[in-house]
Amino acid sequence: MSITLFSHADCEFHNMGDMHPEAPERLGQIRDQLIASGMDRFVAYDQAPLADIEQLKITHTPEYIDYLVEQDLRLAVRAEQGEEIPSVQLDPDTLMMQHSFKAALRAAGAGIAAVDEVFDTPNNRAFCAVRPPGHHALKDAAMGFCILGNVAIAAHHALNNRGLERVAIVDFDVHHGNGTENIVEGDERIRLYSSYQGNFYPFPDKDAARPNVIHTPLAAGTEGEAFREAVSAWLPDIDAFAPQLIIISAGFDAHIEDPLAQLRLRESDYNWITTELVALANKHSGGRIVSMLEGGYNLGALGRSVVAHIKALVEN
Ligand SMILES: [Zn+2]
Repeated sequence: MSITLFSHADCEFHNMGDMHPEAPERLGQIRDQLIASGMDRFVAYDQAPLADIEQLKITHTPEYIDYLVEQDLRLAVRAEQGEEIPSVQLDPDTLMMQHSFKAALRAAGAGIAAVDEVFDTPNNRAFCAVRPPGHHALKDAAMGFCILGNVAIAAHHALNNRGLERVAIVDFDVHHGNGTENIVEGDERIRLYSSYQGNFYPFPDKDAARPNVIHTPLAAGTEGEAFREAVSAWLPDIDAFAPQLIIISAGFDAHIEDPLAQLRLRESDYNWITTELVALANKHSGGRIVSMLEGGYNLGALGRSVVAHIKALVEN
């Protein structure tokens, strides 16, 4: 089996500075490791299209999208006037530069194209190697390196434009997918499963009642075995929900080598969780899985983890 990988060079022009961990080199590392591991033989590469501005206003507030469009125009004017690197601070961790909005449109567009790909072609698996990531982006604001809610936008596309009734989103990034939660909570067509390091950014309230969002906080220092045991609780729930599509918020910053957090997962853990999700997709959703890159900041660990993830997506 093969997998379609959506990406675009525009995603590498978004650069928040040499010291920022969410760096353009992350995507190059993924490409290199796919080639080095031989996995690229199973990958069909495709260009991520730009998302349609009006479509984004289904997931985000129209005011927020209009604000981004306006900032993008202003940044272009400032650059034309000779300002060296014009930027606007969207939140304490997130900068928008001249090329950032285009990168964000590619990232969101990748998810939309990936949904269409898994329905319209024999490839029922797609991976989006894109940035900026999306799972912290709120309905009406950027947050935590994220500008647009890529995964939520893909889910809305599947539900509103492809006629689906049930979509499961699985988020195993080390940070809780609070932006995705903000967008999908209360929407019974979607179930969001999120594992994350507890007492850690973005500091979610795990006890707040949200019938369609499952929180799985893990203590700092959690190893792969305990991670597997904790997230195994999701599997019968996903089975009962019988999703017609599984979307993965694939962050790899819970890896033991990641500098931003303190969980201790390894490549084999990413391979394991992906294999479990593939089994559920094969049972309920014609094998269809759309996976979108979120975090992962140790370049080597990120590249190897994506290879382990993609290996499970193509082998099962
Ligand atoms: Zn993260």
